[in-house]
Amino acid sequence: MRTLYILSHDLRKKGNPILDESLDRNDIVFPIFMKDTKLEKLSGASLWWVKDSLKNLSGNLRVERIPIVESNGNYIHILKQIVNENNIQRIVSQVVPYANSANGLDEIKGYFTSKGIGTKWFEPNNLLSSESILKLKINFGNFKQFCSTMKNMTVNFDSENEKGLPEIREVEHKSENHEYSKWERDLSGFWNTGEEQARLILGSIVKDGNANKGNSVLSPYIRHGQVNVKAMWKALGEEDNINTEAIKRSLLWREFFYCSYARRPESSSISMNRRMENFRWSSEWSRLINWKEGKTGFPIIDASMRELWGRGWIGNQKRLLVSDFLAKLYSVKWTFGAEWFMDTLVDADEASNYSSWQWISGCSDFSWPFFKIYNPLKKSRSLDPYCEYVKMWVPELNDCPVEYILNPEKMPSDPEINYKKPDKTYKEMREMALSGYKKFNKNDNLS
Ligand SMILES: Cc1cc2nc3c(=O)[nH]c(=O)nc-3n(C[C@H](O)[C@H](O)[C@H](O)COP(=O)(O)OP(=O)(O)OC[C@H]3O[C@@H](n4cnc5c(N)ncnc54)[C@H](O)[C@@H]3O)c2cc1C
Repeated sequence: MRTLYILSHDLRKKGNPILDESLDRNDIVFPIFMKDTKLEKLSGASLWWVKDSLKNLSGNLRVERIPIVESNGNYIHILKQIVNENNIQRIVSQVVPYANSANGLDEIKGYFTSKGIGTKWFEPNNLLSSESILKLKINFGNFKQFCSTMKNMTVNFDSENEKGLPEIREVEHKSENHEYSKWERDLSGFWNTGEEQARLILGSIVKDGNANKGNSVLSPYIRHGQVNVKAMWKALGEEDNINTEAIKRSLLWREFFYCSYARRPESSSISMNRRMENFRWSSEWSRLINWKEGKTGFPIIDASMRELWGRGWIGNQKRLLVSDFLAKLYSVKWTFGAEWFMDTLVDADEASNYSSWQWISGCSDFSWPFFKIYNPLKKSRSLDPYCEYVKMWVPELNDCPVEYILNPEKMPSDPEINYKKPDKTYKEMREMALSGYKKFNKNDNLS
């Protein structure tokens, strides 16, 4: 049977249930990647990751290329063309449990079933099934309880044996050739996007306990399906140590955020704690620009933001630090930061990103409270005491003594050092943020 395979968060050959089933059924498979903002937000760094990964995957599937089909909200119309041009008899894809993507797949199923074309949607790259993501009873105010529920659940894991390939063909369809921009070419210098690399990293974590302080740096591979999270969960479970335990806990956060986001898709732009929708955020846009460009005057924040731009990735601690800084010390609404992350992260994932931003800015129903504010000076001392990281990403501080990098408010003016120290001290910014929050609480209680 001629089968159209719409790739999404499953850019791998090994242990890919759709390819395995197609082999068993003797199907001829036509893979495409669909890009449509109505189904899912995909741009910037994560789109670059997709382009690069598709090159690797087409090599593994032994086809010249896997096209990225852009449908601009018109996915039924474009799919209809592809189905007709290629004599397609069946469409398969993996579910992405965001509401828009899931609704889109429902629409596709409805339309093509009525035209006599078969469809089959496979389970998402999650520990939970798509049904549990939507229906499992969860108290969103209690992550610990979620972890205990998860402990009692069996993760159904299908083995990852290499089965061989079904017949794969390239679709006949006009699609754009994607050239890399300079920024994308620079990203290429940092990453090897293929599934083989993901397996190497996971293997070294499991076998040698090799994880950078509990960080696997697997998030882009997980986001794009080059790692099967069920297989990862199983492998980590076989080698219990502090690192593997920490990574398993992180995977539970991911499930938790998927459950939250799948049920409340509006949380990409509206605070889950509706009260916070009335909060008076700052409209000083220069703050947002300084934050994006890594020019806040706080070296650890600036280095992290420049790494985010340069590498498309920063670790969890730095994500927490810079998002807390924007939403609290700068009091800029979390949605602006979240959209910047969606554009600049190679692992940009709607569920994890929007939920994390809501959590850190005190706007979700399971939040880190607004009055808990990270101190970037203290964090700088604990994360980078010798300022090696800062010097790597903020080269204008190369000749600046460490004591001033750790305490930029005291940095003397030096014409040799082309770095702007902060306009306000951490203490002043913290007081302003807290007094704004206090005022808001008072007015809110009166109304
Ligand atoms: C403001 C903010 C925005 C974020 N946006 C994203 C995003 O767009 N995409 C994304 O994958 N993660 C996001 N995270 C979560 C987390 O920072 C990254 O997943 C993590 O830094 C990836 O590093 P790692 O692969 O070394 O994680 P590890 O600690 O090795 O964890 C293993 C895997 O678990 C998942 N994970 C880890 N921590 C979290 C978490 N807190 N929430 C959800 N999943 C987690 C990731 O898939 C990760 O690869 C965000 C966090 C914050 C604070």
